[in-house]
Amino acid sequence: MSTSVGHLALGLDIGGSSVKTALLRIDGSAPPETVNTDLFHLDQSREPGLVVGELARITTQLRTQYGPIASVGVGIPGMFDEAAGTPTLLPNFPISWKGFPFRQEVEGNLGQKIALVNDAKAFSLAESVVGSAAGLETVVCVVLGTGVGGGVVHRGKVWKGLGSAGELGHLTVELDGPPCGCGNNGCVESFASSAAISTAGGQESVQAVFAAAATGDTRAQVAIDRAIKALGAGLANVFITLAPDTFVIGGGVAGAGKQLIAPLEAEIRRRIRVAPGTDIHVVPASLGRHAGAIGAALMGAGTQL
Ligand SMILES: [Zn+2]
Repeated sequence: MSTSVGHLALGLDIGGSSVKTALLRIDGSAPPETVNTDLFHLDQSREPGLVVGELARITTQLRTQYGPIASVGVGIPGMFDEAAGTPTLLPNFPISWKGFPFRQEVEGNLGQKIALVNDAKAFSLAESVVGSAAGLETVVCVVLGTGVGGGVVHRGKVWKGLGSAGELGHLTVELDGPPCGCGNNGCVESFASSAAISTAGGQESVQAVFAAAATGDTRAQVAIDRAIKALGAGLANVFITLAPDTFVIGGGVAGAGKQLIAPLEAEIRRRIRVAPGTDIHVVPASLGRHAGAIGAALMGAGTQL
């Protein structure tokens, strides 16, 4: 689907407790302009039918305010059947999402076609096109949060492969490591998810682990070092495979900033001996909490630039 010059593209990013929105004006001759961003809290039940109703209400409100919307992209936090438009695995969401004809229901309620996208891939596209890696050719993005997601973007397009490319949380970094939710052992996610870090660090949240480490708590620092080591090993393997221009790190865990970005870059450099260390760059995401919605809007518009 293509969008002609100066049209509005809407991105709706469904998260655990809210829907974030981004309305972009896309003009082929200029970078996309963000017209509006917003956040709407979701009903605690997060039943799919209720969420569809909320998406329709939000879209109607934006149409009233800004006029016709040419394209819509909807990001969901999990995997889905691309052909059918039905979620297959949405961790942390009610089981009723599985197999729910989500794309069909949203299209019926909105009265227009939508693009259904994975939220981490939407984040990756946004950061690669208009965020901290804008203008670079090959970008690998990691979303550190409840889970560890990611995406590979090459020349402004998300690399999908057969569909699952970019699931960086499930790179194996310890041959007989702890079990991962995916069924494998020793995945990056088993060490670097917010739950893994907070459990290992003996704190209630990952933020508390970083705060404790900053005041000299050894257990907290060990948990952070372990997460950085695991993620660093995984990303070193990705560097060997793709030699990307940069890695972009976002998500809740990445909020730790300085305690994470520089040590992670150093860890990847430590492992890479087949390229100069100066080839390896790790930068924090720059678009903030609306990155996923911006990326969903870009994917919906089919611009992918
Ligand atoms: Zn896994």
